Amino acid sequence: MKSKECVHCGKCTRYCKFLEKYKIDIGNMKDHEDLIYHCFLCGKCTAVCPMGIDGREIILHMRQKQVQKNGGKMREKGYDMLIQEKQDYIFANYKNQTKNSVLFPGCNFPSFFPKATKQIIELLRKEAGIGVVFDCCGKPIAELGLLDKENEIIKRIEERLEKAGIEEIILLCPNCYHFLKPRLKVKVVSIYEKLHELGLGRKLLGKLHIFPPCPDRESLEILQDIRVFLEEKPEIIDSAQCCGLGGCAGGKEPELAGDMVRVMAEEAENTKNRIYTYCASCSGNFVRKGYLEAEHILLSVLGLTEKPDTKKSIINRAKTKYWRG
Ligand code: SF4
Ligand code: SF4
Repeated sequence: MKSKECVHCGKCTRYCKFLEKYKIDIGNMKDHEDLIYHCFLCGKCTAVCPMGIDGREIILHMRQKQVQKNGGKMREKGYDMLIQEKQDYIFANYKNQTKNSVLFPGCNFPSFFPKATKQIIELLRKEAGIGVVFDCCGKPIAELGLLDKENEIIKRIEERLEKAGIEEIILLCPNCYHFLKPRLKVKVVSIYEKLHELGLGRKLLGKLHIFPPCPDRESLEILQDIRVFLEEKPEIIDSAQCCGLGGCAGGKEPELAGDMVRVMAEEAENTKNRIYTYCASCSGNFVRKGYLEAEHILLSVLGLTEKPDTKKSIINRAKTKYWRG
């Protein structure tokens, strides 16, 4: 963390709708503790800073410090339901696990794509005898700055996987992938790597225009796994800062979240290109904010068709608690 090294060049502000709205830069965020939950933790400021300052980490650290000062609890209002659901994930289900390898769909993919979730579970079971566990990776709790709870979640997941003899988890969600990979002892692979290993999935023809979700934007690690399913090198969409759901900031800044999607939708319309992503949260939020044309690459690779179900998302993930198959 080097916010003291900020030279106030204003580049982060130019690339960030949140900083722009409040006319601040990362170097003076320390004077704006009241705004830390308005940041989307998207990392755009980090990517553009000429001084190598990691704005995302600085704001996350400020959230953690505020929680710590408040006795481990959140001072910021408006997150009670989220915490209640995710801190010890109320829809967790480990009844369909198999030894060695399991699918870990996370909570957002089943929320927005319930039918595809079922089809993917059945495909992996039929082709490779792979089971499924439903849990939340803990990233939303971590992003709120609840460090102790984050550690408890990781410990709990680790113990459950170890007890079941699971050595590999297959992830559908880029948030779960990048959050769990450095934290868990088990092997973490993307669904694309697994599909390729099993000889499943089809090649997508032509040049795809892809919006990489925030957690994968820097390393493009998952996109590398997707690459084997693409006929041509994709065009990366970087006009939108975030899908608007990052950092649990969408509720604080609904207009900015809408603007972020609008920028991308306009680009798609102007260029007449369909936008692909590989994050269910992005797909869902695009639809919520009025852009209906985005495609989830995983569905295309598997030849599945389902539009994100934004109306019944909570019911869809509640059902995972009772999944038997
Ligand atoms: S881009 Fe970096 S140096 Fe420039 S204002 Fe932002 S944090 Fe400071
Ligand atoms: S992490 Fe994203 S939303 Fe937060 S300050 Fe940086 S660019 Fe802005």
